[in-house]
Amino acid sequence: MISKQAIDNFAANLPDEVKASVRDGTTSSYDKRLEAMEADYEDVDALRALAGQIKQHTVDHLDDYLRQAEARLAERRITVHYAWDPEAARRIVLDILAQRGATRVVKSKSMVSEEAALTAFLTAQGIETTESDLGEFIVQLDEDHPSHVVKPIIHKNRRQIAITFQQHGLGDYDEDPEGITRRARTFMRERFLAADAAISGANFVSAESGRIAVVTNEGNSRFGVAAAPLCIVLTGIEKLLPRDRDFGLFLSLLARSATGQRMTSYVEFLHGPRLDTQPDGPEEMHLVFMNNHRTEALGTPFSSALRCIRCGACMNVCPVYRQTSGHAYRNVYPGPIGAVLDPILAGPEGFAEQADLARASTLCGACNEVCPVNIPIPDLLVRHRTRAVEENARIANLGTPPMGGWARLATSPRTWRAGMNASNAMNYVPLDLLPVYPVRAWLEQRELPDWRGGHFRSWMRKRDGHDKAGTDTRPSEVAGKGSQDE
Ligand code: SF4
Repeated sequence: MISKQAIDNFAANLPDEVKASVRDGTTSSYDKRLEAMEADYEDVDALRALAGQIKQHTVDHLDDYLRQAEARLAERRITVHYAWDPEAARRIVLDILAQRGATRVVKSKSMVSEEAALTAFLTAQGIETTESDLGEFIVQLDEDHPSHVVKPIIHKNRRQIAITFQQHGLGDYDEDPEGITRRARTFMRERFLAADAAISGANFVSAESGRIAVVTNEGNSRFGVAAAPLCIVLTGIEKLLPRDRDFGLFLSLLARSATGQRMTSYVEFLHGPRLDTQPDGPEEMHLVFMNNHRTEALGTPFSSALRCIRCGACMNVCPVYRQTSGHAYRNVYPGPIGAVLDPILAGPEGFAEQADLARASTLCGACNEVCPVNIPIPDLLVRHRTRAVEENARIANLGTPPMGGWARLATSPRTWRAGMNASNAMNYVPLDLLPVYPVRAWLEQRELPDWRGGHFRSWMRKRDGHDKAGTDTRPSEVAGKGSQDE
């Protein structure tokens, strides 16, 4: 079950083991990204800006590019479907499988299929569905949810994975990563060879040629698509690129931003069902474009969120994500971009439920600085906050202090000064006299410096050299008194 708790409550109860796994996973990806970017590019920001412009242009002309892509895909004998929402996507996939009599599916990692909760749906319909990405496979075994868009089990360590394998009869307890991978491979190989259908995501789709780019580090998508007679690609409508030549820039930025690799181990370009002259590949191929409220962001400042290429760099750098883990965000997309996307994908009726996510940010701007498509995430978070206040959403009842009192205090110099001076009393209040919750609980874990408020004006007057009586009060060395030259 995805948590329903507010992000702070979830983070407060996070086990140390999870915190350590998330911290190690994010910092190693962040360090590798930095190294790869700096070693290879003279001006990373110029590339990020270019990639951002290309994606924004695509999003701004999405109708044209979708039409163009549909025509090219049809020429390649790939049947195109449009799913308005996750329910439609599930139904389309199930119908395609049913028409072909497919009952065994291997699936590679796809965040859009997570949006559609496809694996659970197909399993409930009696379709044997196997996640073939190792991380997603472990998520499936544990009946868990991915907590990162690139590293779905970033919240788990080797010990926990070894226990999962042992519990599911995949060998004795063994923490060795090679051993874990070998056993997963043996299990998966049989599923690949027996599969009636392969389901994959798409990292990019070229509108110019209809080529579908899929990147993995395990080769699982390639194996699935090559071996199964039916292939279904499920992706979001925003995954288009205008031209084939854009693949170079985006594949380079994606690999470096996600894992610090110069290129992922496997990059596939799917061209359609196999030709008579080809030994492997599917006999039939479908591509499902899912909307799920994406079109509602078009023409608004939130359209820039549709540039996202799901590299996960914003999560790796985010101080909030590092402390809370991906599950704290309660949705498929965690981290800074999740806090922007989830309220959009929830639709107008679901916005209030997601509005608190935008508060889970220090607005430090680090997410924007690492984003390969230069999404102004902090700006979009502020816009969500504004909307939440304007719509009087749930966030208003989640503990935000009343701002009216603060506004009165901060806009009246006299009241402000009195408040600052009165707060000096804080230095003399014994902790025992404070209310038990929440002030005392908060203070018991912190040592605050002495309150020094209320002295700024007098300090400033002295610094400028004049007190109220007009006497020059500057220190002697500033005022030129007492120097040896006098
Ligand atoms: S918002 Fe940018 S940094 Fe974050 S996942 Fe998307 S592309 Fe990567």
